[in-house]
Amino acid sequence: CGVFGVYTVRHEAAKLAYFGLFALQHRGQESAGIATFQGDKVHVHKDMGLVTQVFDEQILEQLPGSIAVGHTRYSTTGSSRVVNAQPVIVETRLGTLALAHNGNLVNTAILREQVLAHNWSLETTTDSEVIAYAIAQEISTGKDWLDSAIAACQTCEGAFSLVIGTPEGVMGVRDPHGIRPLVLGILTSADSPGNPQYVLASETCGLDIIGAEYLRDVEPGELVWITKEGLASFHWSQRPEPKLCVFEMIYFARPDSQMHGESLYSYRLRLGEYLAKESPVEADIVIAVPDSGIPAAIGFSQLSGIPYAEGLIKNRYVGRTFIQPTQAMRELGIKMKLNPLRDVLEGKRVVIVDDSIVRGTTSHKIVKALRDAGAAEVHMRVSSPPVTHPCFYGIDTDNQDQLIAATKSVQEIADKIGVDSLAFLRHDSMLEAAQDSDSHFCSACFSGNYPITIPESLRASKLM
Ligand code: 5GP
Ligand code: SF4
Ligand code: MG
Repeated sequence: CGVFGVYTVRHEAAKLAYFGLFALQHRGQESAGIATFQGDKVHVHKDMGLVTQVFDEQILEQLPGSIAVGHTRYSTTGSSRVVNAQPVIVETRLGTLALAHNGNLVNTAILREQVLAHNWSLETTTDSEVIAYAIAQEISTGKDWLDSAIAACQTCEGAFSLVIGTPEGVMGVRDPHGIRPLVLGILTSADSPGNPQYVLASETCGLDIIGAEYLRDVEPGELVWITKEGLASFHWSQRPEPKLCVFEMIYFARPDSQMHGESLYSYRLRLGEYLAKESPVEADIVIAVPDSGIPAAIGFSQLSGIPYAEGLIKNRYVGRTFIQPTQAMRELGIKMKLNPLRDVLEGKRVVIVDDSIVRGTTSHKIVKALRDAGAAEVHMRVSSPPVTHPCFYGIDTDNQDQLIAATKSVQEIADKIGVDSLAFLRHDSMLEAAQDSDSHFCSACFSGNYPITIPESLRASKLM
């Protein structure tokens, strides 16, 4: 999911949120929503669909206010329905709360019971709603906004990057492992230079689009509270232990975002260089699976000296195939998406680079398309290690039995997808390329080493 928040001095917060969400569209295409605060009054609009489908000029005009919180959703838990669209809106003793969440909790079941035990009723099945009610519950005991949010976060386990809007201001929170990203920016406007306006976004591309300057990441286990007094920071976790999702770096986030201290484009280029060093091959051209494989393919080409070419043309109007809810839709989606260029491919020994193989269905179809277009040899290089384990922290990598590398060796995968050769990036290279050889990342989907313990019942739901 994508989350966004802004505290402005004027009443244009909804428009800023709209553009911020537009830049974060790749993080979720199922639903979009914005809540604004105008004094104590809250305005909300959310619906299924893309940001540009959910909002227009007229709707944004009906969202006045100087504070806005926004969300783009892709479902990992909870069904694909409008009740699950965010921000989650909850009435509290102190006023309305609007919460946008990215990540997945692992102790939702326990928290749900606690919330229900206090006679709150839940509308949905999402962990995000449970967090919002847990905060409301703390508020009902007499605590203020800040203490309530901190107390609720201290009961949550799992991945949560939150943006929380209140009539008084906006909060940004990251879980103690900082699994999902969240950045802080500042917007200075010419007509009120003395009033800094703060912005929160999942990625820096959400700041760039509105001309906000990137200040820093919200830190793992930190809460920032932005009010008329300015920005205040609270480190609410006893044991912050940074474990940024390495899949964000490899695939999920936009290449023009800054993460872990550098541009993701540069990181992905370097993954391609490592791959070319580790698993060289004689070939005539290097092509990418667009768009996610492009930086690594360029890196592979630059290091190997094999020319980079465009061999597959992508229809830019089709969303990310993996985000669509069913396998049947996924299969349809792939055909709509990529078309091979016969004049580039015919008679050539082709290296095709992709960022990941998850289920193996994309690769299988692409390899067939390349051969149909006349490729003489097809060598696949993947700029991440084999995905052997499901994610419980907010990326939809599916159940373990759907992951091709969970049950098959590299050679068996090569046979299955029909390539002449296949190689994955080494696990240590993936970390080394980030100039971080020690373990500041979660890389559980490549190793099974889950940094946050998964309760047995949840494990059973996704692991073989
Ligand atoms: P698959 O092997 O599942 O058919 O597809 C792998 C390709 O789709 C890669 O190009 C990758 O960018 C993208 N992809 C597909 N499914 C997922 C998924 O569940 N999670 C992520 N992160 N990427 C996926
Ligand atoms: Fe990211 Fe994989 Fe860890 Fe999930 S399991 S948080 S996708 S690295
Ligand atoms: Mg891809």
